[in-house]
Amino acid sequence: YEMSENISSSVSQLTEEKQKLLDAIDRLQELEQQQKQFIGNISHELKTPLTSILAYADLLEMYRDDPFLLEEARGQISKEAQRLFQLVEKALQLSSMDIYEFETHAEQVELPPILQEAAARLEAKAEQSHITIQSFLTDGRVWADPENLMHMVLNLLDNGIKYNNPGGSVTLSNEVKHDEHGHDRMVIKVSDTGIGIPEDARERIFDPFYTVSSDRSRVHGGTGLGLSLVRNLAEKQQGSVKLVESGPGGSTFLISLPMNRPQSSEVISAEEGS
Ligand code: ADP
Repeated sequence: YEMSENISSSVSQLTEEKQKLLDAIDRLQELEQQQKQFIGNISHELKTPLTSILAYADLLEMYRDDPFLLEEARGQISKEAQRLFQLVEKALQLSSMDIYEFETHAEQVELPPILQEAAARLEAKAEQSHITIQSFLTDGRVWADPENLMHMVLNLLDNGIKYNNPGGSVTLSNEVKHDEHGHDRMVIKVSDTGIGIPEDARERIFDPFYTVSSDRSRVHGGTGLGLSLVRNLAEKQQGSVKLVESGPGGSTFLISLPMNRPQSSEVISAEEGS
């Protein structure tokens, strides 16, 4: 009886192991699929600015004697090259997360200095576009990877500036909220007085490569990768990001992050240690 008991427990262990392997294979196949799609999308996106640059480069020869046209071509080349640069930069950030099991080095960090630095980094850009950045910060710590956190805030602030009207503002603030499980969460709020996001686009703005209308994104050199990066980073840190309101008066995005090391990873690391 004992022997058959042992055998059946071994069999069920094996079945469990087999299931784990099958799940791992599924996950790998899914990742491979995602990578292929990502590379396909990015190649397509890179072609557009490159085609423009090549076309203008050809025109330079023809425009040689006309300073006005030359300047026009130079401007276009520079604009498209910048767009290309942004695309490559964001694609690199995104791919390093999808391709290698992206690691976050979360730690307890003081939030206000990070928010202040993010605002300071975009100050000059805001000024150029006649936008003011206002900050209303409260002391508090979050459990996050400082570098990722900086990326997230920079991306939201940058959008608040890009999709704004001259004379407008972007407001950055934070506050502590209790979630439904009784845990404290830090909520970072980025509001702008900008052009808003149409109702039917609100769900899709977090999809990779999605831009509301190619027109307005082209004007701003958008890649459609910023918000998907923010969402990816938030989720990697047991956080979330959402658009809470948007209309002709502007948009408000919230990032929510744990303030302390999340319970689930506490359990895992406790087990690992034993
Ligand atoms: P992009 O590089 O195009 O800015 P994002 O992923 O950051 O890409 O944003 C996706 C789209 O969502 C943008 O093309 C833009 O149309 C819209 N969007 C994002 N943030 C804002 C905002 N604060 N106000 C208005 N529209 C926005």
